[in-house]
Amino acid sequence: MPEPKPAAPRQNRLGLTVVDYKGGKTTLCAGCGHNAISERILEACFDLGLPPERVAKFSGIGCSSKSPAYFMSRSHSFNAVHGRMPSVATGALLANRTLRGLGVSGDGDTASIGIGQFVHLLRRNVPMVYVIENNGVYGLTKGQFSATADPGSVLKGGAVADLPAVDTCALAIQLGASFVARSFSGDKRQLSALLRGALSHRGTALLDVLSPCVTFNDHEGSTKSFAWVKEHDEPLQEVSYVPALEEIAVEYDPGATVDVTLHDGARLRLKKLEEGYDPRDRSGALSRLLAAQAAGEVLTGLLYADPAAPTLLDRLELVEDPLATLPAARVRPPPSVLEAINASLR
Ligand code: SF4
Repeated sequence: MPEPKPAAPRQNRLGLTVVDYKGGKTTLCAGCGHNAISERILEACFDLGLPPERVAKFSGIGCSSKSPAYFMSRSHSFNAVHGRMPSVATGALLANRTLRGLGVSGDGDTASIGIGQFVHLLRRNVPMVYVIENNGVYGLTKGQFSATADPGSVLKGGAVADLPAVDTCALAIQLGASFVARSFSGDKRQLSALLRGALSHRGTALLDVLSPCVTFNDHEGSTKSFAWVKEHDEPLQEVSYVPALEEIAVEYDPGATVDVTLHDGARLRLKKLEEGYDPRDRSGALSRLLAAQAAGEVLTGLLYADPAAPTLLDRLELVEDPLATLPAARVRPPPSVLEAINASLR
């Protein structure tokens, strides 16, 4: 009897298979939360049918910032110096607005050395996805506390965090970011939906993902361990991603479901688990985050979204053609323009 033929690999709308979205083999520790996030990013880009060569990956320094090497080898990639990824990404995305920006950073890279750059990326609403792989420690330099470590959290060696933690989501909402979400590397379903939504958003989409460091911060006393996050996870909603062309027909339950429509027509459908929570209410999102912090909860889900907020490209009124492809005649004003400016100043 002839052997049954293996099923052909699934293809996306571009006719590509998952293999076309693969990267190099990970060199991170086995079980590191960052590896699960790389898998979810790869799947989301494949499912959305993003052309890999139209994606630009950016990162800084740290275990997290090595991650872009482990997915989408066919994409552009720039590993910047510590904390300086936002300025590199801003420049690249201004020079070529047709690229889809995807940044991966860590809590140390973002909330300590890079915080000056991070806050300005948020207030400019640079069109990119910014993933923070948040484990509360500097894994690459043997596990010192980072600025997102919760006060009272204990290191393996007994040191106790005694400073207030930087909450990157609260900071982002306060600075006017237009898509802010928190998730957990161990929650495949929620993280996948939020990543798809983030990749369909046109401004800065900040996704803070709790991603335990199994080597230095996964013990009792840590508030960034797998066990602690699982026990204290408070999902705001059940999140589903509805692609642009899919009919909305099912399970609509007024008062319990909110659809956030993204600029390409896709939707994040949020089935509310908590009475009264609306991710379009900025001050409500901030006060809910503060209440969760006080209660020792990890609030996950879509915290805030404003899909219509103007991006940096809108504010600069850039031409549709990528700046990097404009001929000199279009970027250099003729001498008559300079003459007119000089004349107006005389
Ligand atoms: Fe991941 Fe921690 Fe290992 Fe770094 S040290 S790769 S963060 S588990």
